[in-house]
Amino acid sequence: MSIYTGPVFEMARTQFDSIADYVGINADERVRVFMPKRAIAVSCPVRMDDGRVEVFQGYRVQHHLTLGPTKGGTRFASNLDMGEVAALAVWMSWKCALADLPYGGAKGGVTVDPHALSRRELEAVSRRYMQEMIPFVGPHTDVMAPDMGTNEQVMAWFMDTYSMYQGRTVTEIVTGKPVASGGTEGRREATGRGVAFLVARAMETIGLKAQGATAIVQGYGNVGAVAAHELALQGIRIIGVSDHTAAYFDTKGFDVAKLNAHVAKTGALRGYSKDNTIDAGELLYQKCDILVPAAVERVITGENVRKLRCRIIAEGANGPTTPDADAYLDQHRNEIFVIPDILCNSGGVIVSYFEWVQDLQQFFWSETEVTDKLKTLLNRTFNKVLSRATRDNVSNRTAAMAIGVEKVRDGKKIRGLFP
Ligand code: NAD
Repeated sequence: MSIYTGPVFEMARTQFDSIADYVGINADERVRVFMPKRAIAVSCPVRMDDGRVEVFQGYRVQHHLTLGPTKGGTRFASNLDMGEVAALAVWMSWKCALADLPYGGAKGGVTVDPHALSRRELEAVSRRYMQEMIPFVGPHTDVMAPDMGTNEQVMAWFMDTYSMYQGRTVTEIVTGKPVASGGTEGRREATGRGVAFLVARAMETIGLKAQGATAIVQGYGNVGAVAAHELALQGIRIIGVSDHTAAYFDTKGFDVAKLNAHVAKTGALRGYSKDNTIDAGELLYQKCDILVPAAVERVITGENVRKLRCRIIAEGANGPTTPDADAYLDQHRNEIFVIPDILCNSGGVIVSYFEWVQDLQQFFWSETEVTDKLKTLLNRTFNKVLSRATRDNVSNRTAAMAIGVEKVRDGKKIRGLFP
């Protein structure tokens, strides 16, 4: 019986099978390329503020070690399981390979609702999780980063915990750290900034002008809020936003600076306004030019994809579109331009890579340097995906995944099979 179960892992497997058919990967190679190399499950006992000891389950999946260390985020979420973590690790592999980063994919996390923890409890969960992972990670083995439910502060605690055990400061063990503890300028903004940059490229491709264009952003966290801010800077009106607490829609558009100030003060969108509220599910179906799902997996499904009324889907989140929805979008490529997740949100891992390189060299770059290099790499990757999609008359997702999968397959082939 496989330890990888659940709908998210099955989704990653279905996607991989169709890509493997398209690029012609034989049966032997398929399992070797797709199945994760290592999976680690740990129990993290933590003393809670009320004196009880609670035990949280933690996971880390390292998908492949063929091209270098593994790299991937850490998610704190109440419904997290090994299957979801494994799927996210697999996607991370295709993403890194697509952007030509010298990494395999990884992902990890803890089954915990971070919003239900005090700051002290959050620190205790973070430190204990990292301590349990020490035998399995390292700057040249597996490098962690933030994901849903974790942030710069959690990365600083990870780095500090790892460093305490090594007896020296090892900043290169995690990325997405605060600049004050060895982080890079521009990492926090990188994913959302990348989303907005790629939206601009997509608009150019389909001939849509920013002036007068509208966007809806689902998931107003790190990725969504920065994407909204950067899209607004391009002159695009943000007409809808949502998070796990509230959803708002107004065709006149929202003041992103005010939204961000509210979220910075209260931690969420709830209470931003009494007006313009909308059912969170309905928000996705409102007419707009750009739809940015930037929250969780599987929100665009076979059931609701026909209700979408957008021109561009910019997948800030990982895995927001299910394979059956994808089949529909594939047939309607001329109406909806999809920027697939492994391209759209790759700004995060690209700047994480820059952070790792800077930490290893102890030589730091300015934010302008970071952002310029990010845009150069994203531009190259966008062009690569578009020309493959055009050449083979396939969807952008198929093109992007095929490039990633082929790179991993070729890497394994050329190294051979040990022993
Ligand atoms: P985050 O925790 O900062 O924000 C997540 C946001 O989604 C929060 O505002 C939360 O309230 C909201 N949310 C949760 N469930 C929701 C729902 N059902 N409907 C609407 N909103 C909901 O996380 P993040 O780092 O911004 O990550 C968001 C997505 O982007 C995830 O899929 C993550 O894997 C992906 N991603 C993040 C990065 C990164 O650098 N942080 C990089 C690549 C991909």
